[in-house]
Amino acid sequence: MLQENIETVRKRLNKAAAKRGIPVEEITLVAVTKTIPAVRIQSARELGIKDFGENRLQEALPKINSLSPEIDWHFLGHLQTNKVKDVLPYFKLIHSLDRMKLAHAIQKEALKIDKVVDVLVQVNIGSEETKYGFEPELVEEALKELVSLDMIKIRGLMAIAPLLEDPEELRPHFRRLNRMFQSLNIPGTEMKYLSMGMTNDFEVAVEEGSNMVRIGTGLFGERVK
Ligand SMILES: *Cc1c(COP(=O)(O)O)cnc(C)c1O
Repeated sequence: MLQENIETVRKRLNKAAAKRGIPVEEITLVAVTKTIPAVRIQSARELGIKDFGENRLQEALPKINSLSPEIDWHFLGHLQTNKVKDVLPYFKLIHSLDRMKLAHAIQKEALKIDKVVDVLVQVNIGSEETKYGFEPELVEEALKELVSLDMIKIRGLMAIAPLLEDPEELRPHFRRLNRMFQSLNIPGTEMKYLSMGMTNDFEVAVEEGSNMVRIGTGLFGERVK
């Protein structure tokens, strides 16, 4: 089933990339493995997936430690400042830089281990009270402040779209975020990744400029809570 799911997702990605007019290789597929046991992650790895994402550190660490160090791990969840020091050594990219206080905590811990940390700035595109991230109109200002933190490398933007029945309704949100992504040219940043799109909406996201999709249920099936 996993193999079939991966093939289906890849086909859908191919189609969306073609529609956008870009090679599918330009899109990073991050398999989201919250609630998924390590053995299934290993199977996905053997089926050619290289990037995996988790959103809770306590859940991620035992899996990371039991799996091959060749895996590139992405941190996707809201990160508490007291967990930063445990996250930094294990993750290639933190997608969820959602507040300035977190940036300062990352800077401080990164200095201690002398590691420059790649991050994406999370943008609250749905502008819902319950969602984390910088409000869109504050992102530019935030980036200008963030570049002064020399152990943090800004590699792009990330958004979690509101969950809507019809992903077409998200198109304007994705389009707006891509426009922002394209237009932000802050010296000291290296904007390469636009992380948007999940199982329900990744085709629309790719058509609107995403080059990093985060897919859980589409690959592993419904999560058991
Ligand atoms: C769970 C999760 C995903 C994947 O969601 P699916 O709908 O299962 O594809 C993507 N991004 C984040 C931040 C998540 O927490």
